[in-house]
Amino acid sequence: AAPISLVLASGRLAKQGIVAKEAGALERLALIDTVIFDKTGTLTEGKPRVSALQPLKGSRSSALRLAAAAESASSHPLAAAIRQEAAKTGLVIPMPDSQVYTPGGGVVAVVKKQQVGVGNAGFAKERGWLVSEEGEKFAKSKEAAGETVLFIAINDECVAMIALIDSVKSDARSVVSDLRSLGVSILLATGDREAPARAAAKAAGITEVHASMLPEAKQSLVERLKKRGKRVAMAGDGWNDAPALASSDVGIAMGNGTEAALTAGHLSLLNSRLLAIPGAIRISRLTLRNVR
Ligand code: ADP
Ligand code: MG
Repeated sequence: AAPISLVLASGRLAKQGIVAKEAGALERLALIDTVIFDKTGTLTEGKPRVSALQPLKGSRSSALRLAAAAESASSHPLAAAIRQEAAKTGLVIPMPDSQVYTPGGGVVAVVKKQQVGVGNAGFAKERGWLVSEEGEKFAKSKEAAGETVLFIAINDECVAMIALIDSVKSDARSVVSDLRSLGVSILLATGDREAPARAAAKAAGITEVHASMLPEAKQSLVERLKKRGKRVAMAGDGWNDAPALASSDVGIAMGNGTEAALTAGHLSLLNSRLLAIPGAIRISRLTLRNVR
């Protein structure tokens, strides 16, 4: 049976909205010296909104409508933002005939006999989308400003560009400095590209950034750090964080995250507030001291 102090600690954590699946997770939490944050939905609000849409060929509304159709089945926050922007136009969004999703890249769908793609620069390149100079210029300037840029293509020709912004959670910066005061090193790992990753990291006061990470890359980052003797906690919300959450010493899932993240994590933050993380480390350290 778990020592009584661990049971009491679980109660204190629950009051802060933290649920541990096993007592062992609390013991491991006390020893954590490294925390990796996912960006979208963990460090940021995860509610991006379209900040700009530039048509390159055809109208703004037709590009938006097709993009929303292509993204109709995606649970990604970027997809939700595009659907929301399209809804504002009042246009009917057509049903796609098929959709193929590439994690960390984008989506390609067949909509009204046309192939409609929505994805980032890497994906556009991979798929060989034709992008005008005007489009490249848009991407460069928005990314430099820390915004996430997506390309919309019809039959492999880029017809519009979208920029999206997602604000960093208001408590992120104080949580990062609080964790540092506990002797914890902090990293950011994201599937997003370098520039928006750097911008979010800067806003939160994080200097070590790993961008363009596929789910397996996040996981191998965790494993690399563990091999170096680090005790690693990973905080994430997406299904793309699930392998890394499972591999870490303590996987911390945002309560409003995906089912996959909640299943893979060892702890859940019911209210998704980052402030609970340093709080939980403190409680676990105090508890462990009493157990020993
Ligand atoms: P994070 O690790 O920050 O949560 P993701 O791995 O979910 O980010 O996504 C990484 C990148 O992949 C996004 O920034 C975007 O460029 C692209 N992407 C992911 N899903 C979609 C989608 N449904 N539509 C378009 N692009 C997407
Ligand atoms: Mg995420």
